Amino acid sequence: MALDELTAEQTVAMFLHVADGILRSAETLNDADRAVGDGDHGEGMARGFSAAREKLTAETFTSVDMALRAVGMAMMSTMGGASGAVFGTLFRAGGQALAGETALTSQGLAQMLAAGLEAVQKRGGAQVGDKTMIDALEPAARQAQQVAGEPLSAAALAVAEAARLGMENSRGLIAAQGRARTLGERALGHPDPGAMSMHLILHFMAEYIARLAGQSPTADGLEPEPSEQE
Ligand code: ADP
Ligand code: MG
Repeated sequence: MALDELTAEQTVAMFLHVADGILRSAETLNDADRAVGDGDHGEGMARGFSAAREKLTAETFTSVDMALRAVGMAMMSTMGGASGAVFGTLFRAGGQALAGETALTSQGLAQMLAAGLEAVQKRGGAQVGDKTMIDALEPAARQAQQVAGEPLSAAALAVAEAARLGMENSRGLIAAQGRARTLGERALGHPDPGAMSMHLILHFMAEYIARLAGQSPTADGLEPEPSEQE
């Protein structure tokens, strides 16, 4: 069964699912950051999504943009580090692009990712190929544009897969932004931790939507959850 949109309430539930998934992935993300940075990326993301979870459960959200902004504000105010500003900006700008929307559609997902990408690049100056989360976000935003006419359940899966390929591709890149740039070629072979987070966020969003649509999460082409690989 295809699903065309999420209500604001379902959007909140989706981000609670994302928060759980990121919290379970914290060690994997720390390990990834240990290889190319200072080993704290998972800790930061877990802190941001714990704060987001508190906000999302404490208040009532009647529009999609309010939920997105709450996630962004929570991340920005609790995470610190490069990624607090980066992911905080992604969700805040993504929310602004959907002002007043009471449902999340494929078109909305595309708008959210396009606005988030633009804002993150404006703020941090990273380009595609610099080995940052942009290397997962940019192909995801591009894919979202291409599948904006499809049901949300199909679009979300395609977008998550594009982010996964972008994250995998970041292994072959030499960092030009963030801490990893001091490593030069030594970071080759390791994916960018922020790109991993970007993929995981879209993966858990797609997983929630697939379940809501009654699709089997194992038959949708998604990678197994990181916690199941350990
Ligand atoms: P810190 O580098 O301060 O320890 P984290 O470890 O939490 O912060 O996050 C590192 C991630 O932040 C990187 O893997 C990269 O994806 C992302 N990042 C760093 N700088 C930028 C930037 N200018 N634009 C986009 N993403 C960035
Ligand atoms: Mg770090």
